[in-house]
Amino acid sequence: MSGPTDAESSDSDAEAADSPGTVYLVGSGPGDPELLTVKAKRLLESADVVLHDKLPGPEIIGLIPEEKREDVGKRAGGERTSQADINARLVELAREGKTVVRLKGGDSFVFGRGGEEAQHLAANGIPFEYVPGITSAIAGPGVAGIPVTHRDHASSVSFVTGHEDPTKDESSVNWDALAATGGTIVVLMGVGKLPDYTQALRDAGMDPETPVALVERATWEDMRVATGTLDTIVDVRDAAGIEPPAITVIGDVAGTREEVLHFLR
Ligand code: SAH
Repeated sequence: MSGPTDAESSDSDAEAADSPGTVYLVGSGPGDPELLTVKAKRLLESADVVLHDKLPGPEIIGLIPEEKREDVGKRAGGERTSQADINARLVELAREGKTVVRLKGGDSFVFGRGGEEAQHLAANGIPFEYVPGITSAIAGPGVAGIPVTHRDHASSVSFVTGHEDPTKDESSVNWDALAATGGTIVVLMGVGKLPDYTQALRDAGMDPETPVALVERATWEDMRVATGTLDTIVDVRDAAGIEPPAITVIGDVAGTREEVLHFLR
């Protein structure tokens, strides 16, 4: 285990502990507190400090004693804390000997920047543990009655960010290739650019009648689901006023929701 180097420890503050505390990169699951892992719940209770943003949802954030909470995702009113500042804060707290939970919605390693945080912690000699969470990429469709794979409908699933502009040359999501897989496409952060990537998929030859579902605030008390097709889903989104956080599920699996809906609790 490599500790801080002399150069690093010389500029640490007077409170620096002999050995750094551990940082737990904890996934909170999609929002229902009963979907926290037993381990996540224990760590939330035992940590000295919990750095979080809004995505874990009001119910889970409400479980954290107020004096332990550090909201690093403030937007309304305050600025959003930069990733560099969050990284630095994790190291600072750990060097004070604190047990730190970095709580992320879903799973920290699925579009959660947990990988960057792990690299930063390792580079600074801070021990960390990854605690998996239930990702909204699977649970979001699931609680809407949509399995991301199905023997009759999809033998692969892709998780992609909808945040990028599909018309940009440097877009790292290859929508043409995704359209060609015939598998399920699950888009995270995909409410705003829904018109762009549904167009990109149609341009790539995907059937405009392909079922699409939007699952907003999956497992939260005020969860909503809206369904349509590749052709209609933008209008459906607008009519329903769907807002982030929401998952977009594209593929034949989305059509199976109708069959199970009546018995879905
Ligand atoms: N690490 C998270 C994803 C973070 S990216 C995970 O594994 O779930 C943020 C995106 O996640 C949101 O824009 C939305 O697309 C999705 N998301 C997270 N929680 C959600 C929820 N409860 N309901 C619907 N979408 C959710």
